[in-house]
Amino acid sequence: MNFPIYLDYNATTPVDERVFDAMKPFYMEHFGNAASSGHAFGDRAKSAVESARATIANAINASPEEIIFTSGATESNNLAIKGAYRMLAQKGNHCITAPTEHKAVLDTCKSLEKEGVKTTFLSVDNDGNINLSELADAIDEHTFLVTLMHGNNEIGTLHDIQKIGECCREKGVWFHTDSTQTIGKIPFDVQIMLVDMASLTAHKIYGPKGVGALYVRKGCKVIPQIDGGGHESGMRSGTLNVPGIVGFAKAIEVAVSDMERDIAHCTHLRNRLWEFLKSLGCVTLNGPNPLTHPQNRLPNNLSVSISGDNGELIAGSLFNVAVSSRSACTSASSEPSHVLRSIGRTDSNLTTLRFGIGRMTTDEEIDYTIECMRSAVE
Ligand SMILES: *Cc1c(COP(=O)(O)O)cnc(C)c1O
Repeated sequence: MNFPIYLDYNATTPVDERVFDAMKPFYMEHFGNAASSGHAFGDRAKSAVESARATIANAINASPEEIIFTSGATESNNLAIKGAYRMLAQKGNHCITAPTEHKAVLDTCKSLEKEGVKTTFLSVDNDGNINLSELADAIDEHTFLVTLMHGNNEIGTLHDIQKIGECCREKGVWFHTDSTQTIGKIPFDVQIMLVDMASLTAHKIYGPKGVGALYVRKGCKVIPQIDGGGHESGMRSGTLNVPGIVGFAKAIEVAVSDMERDIAHCTHLRNRLWEFLKSLGCVTLNGPNPLTHPQNRLPNNLSVSISGDNGELIAGSLFNVAVSSRSACTSASSEPSHVLRSIGRTDSNLTTLRFGIGRMTTDEEIDYTIECMRSAVE
């Protein structure tokens, strides 16, 4: 076993060897600019980008023209929300989201308030679920966008994207989803789910950092946030990150072909952790129950809160295990996160641990992690 053990796969993932191998030739050999038409270097880069675009589109049942490459999901969320508003400002200035969204969505909505946008935050229950009839009631003639994530990066809650999509389509409102945690991890189909825009990033699915995409359905158009040259159907200018895009496509291809195995592997290890933590008695689960409601939760995520001394002890025992922790005393961020606060975990005496499991996680690593926590509480 190599130490420290990595259990923070909801934050980022290592690059899969198959992905790295696919990228390598595009750094030194095929280094052309995909926008340089008319010579072999440019043509080689362009054909690699177009083949990657087709692979990524195919993975989510979209068409290649509907994939806009970006620097990652933060940029994709900005492009979707700001771009939709600037496109549809004539229609209205009302946006609907939820308090459990990623900061890349919440801060973008907040920044648009300066331009007159009003945001409705739907309520969430103790597991982080929204209420569909509240969503339907919140949509009015001024609503330009509903933006709700698919899988929550902290507490693992999955929103019913298809039901949300149906509601938005019926009301004629664009629906954007931050699907960063789910594309390549669980089935995702833009046609079935009636999604108008979806944000993706490579580094959460064993691809490189700094490359992502926004799916924009044919018939939707967003105003670019980065001008200069009109790349990506005029929606995002800038020289394309060719090796990154090639790696992104390889990552999604591998993720889709290994999906069933990855889901079974992560679910098994995640459930072992939860069964142990549950047996301690002092541990509160955040998000839907992995054993009774596995379909409502990301297969690779477990978030728990532990109060008082036990929390400190258990978090302290994991010094050789990289987990994401929010602790009353030991962590730099002593406050519960905005997501935890929205589901009612407001007690500042709580230590919250997020375990993110991945393709490379082994049974031995989970044994070791459980053993650390067991000796701490004993
Ligand atoms: C990681 C993450 C992001 C940010 O993605 P970057 O590519 O790192 O900018 C946005 N939303 C969710 C849900 C995430 O998990």
